[in-house]
Amino acid sequence: MKTTKSVLLIYTGGTIGMLAGQSSDALIPVEFNDLDQHIPELSLLDCTIDHIALNRPKDSSNIESPDWMALQRLIIEKKDAYFGFVVLHGTDTMSYAASMASFLLLNLKKPVIFTGSQLPIGTLRTDAKENLITAVEIASTEHNGAPLLQEVAIYFEYKLYRANRSTKINAHHFQAFDSPNYPWLMRSGVHMEIQNDLLLRPSGEWKDVVVGQDLEQSIYVITLYPNMPDAIFNADFSAAKAVILETFGSGNSMQRASIRDFLKRAAAQGLPVINVSQCLGGAVEMGRYAASNVLLEGGVINGYDMTLESALAKAHYLAALGTPYEVFKKSFVDSLCGEISVK
Ligand code: ASP
Repeated sequence: MKTTKSVLLIYTGGTIGMLAGQSSDALIPVEFNDLDQHIPELSLLDCTIDHIALNRPKDSSNIESPDWMALQRLIIEKKDAYFGFVVLHGTDTMSYAASMASFLLLNLKKPVIFTGSQLPIGTLRTDAKENLITAVEIASTEHNGAPLLQEVAIYFEYKLYRANRSTKINAHHFQAFDSPNYPWLMRSGVHMEIQNDLLLRPSGEWKDVVVGQDLEQSIYVITLYPNMPDAIFNADFSAAKAVILETFGSGNSMQRASIRDFLKRAAAQGLPVINVSQCLGGAVEMGRYAASNVLLEGGVINGYDMTLESALAKAHYLAALGTPYEVFKKSFVDSLCGEISVK
């Protein structure tokens, strides 16, 4: 007999449920009602599974803040009815959505596992089955009467990663994700290896505040590259709530008057500017090279070892809370849900 644990499977779209369109071979997302037919093994798991579609299924390239907020609202609405949640999502922007969810569901203390696949579920060599079955299994795993996993994560190709540490690294391999600055949380093989010491154990209180309702399109990202036009720094940032600079190496930048002036204007406007590295691994260390001086002197916030996806999510979250400039600068370098390695 099955236990009373139940998992809600939320379908948002992505390759996992895609089929070739009628007018071309390009894959388009389709309704996903006959899940059990594709994966009858789901019925063997020791939990009951309900499924629901978030809205019209989308390629995740089209997923934006209204979808992040809809997902947040759905999970909050159902949080007492389900032991855990599995979100089926396209891989292209999965790390963005999952990072966002880690802030929007801060202190939920339940498993929320994003997964998807590189090949559609109906295809012979699909990776969807293993990803989905194991994600549901982890989402329903109990430890001492509570969920074993109490954070937002991504399960893909035998590994579970902290959502806000993950990034998509490959468009073709089944191992599409990695977490370069934080170890994997669980690895599935013959046995499930669990890195218990690395799991998040949120101590804060759950607050039913739907901050997501104010997620505006107000976070700007500037990727630095050699010979970029000064016009980018001279642009109008009056509608921005935060700017993220994707810098070189350990947080370096070209030394230019346009950058110095931009940072002066930003400080006067109370606009937080954040430094994250273009490198996959390692951390920002302003001051290590003179090439970071312009940023250090301009009061840029150290994003340390955060991913771009996570910095973007955190900036949206803090901006939506109406966080004042000085508090924003302080909160950004604190770990809210394991997104940054605080010394
Ligand atoms: N384009 C797809 C998406 O992100 C790719 C995938 O799901 O793997 O929705």
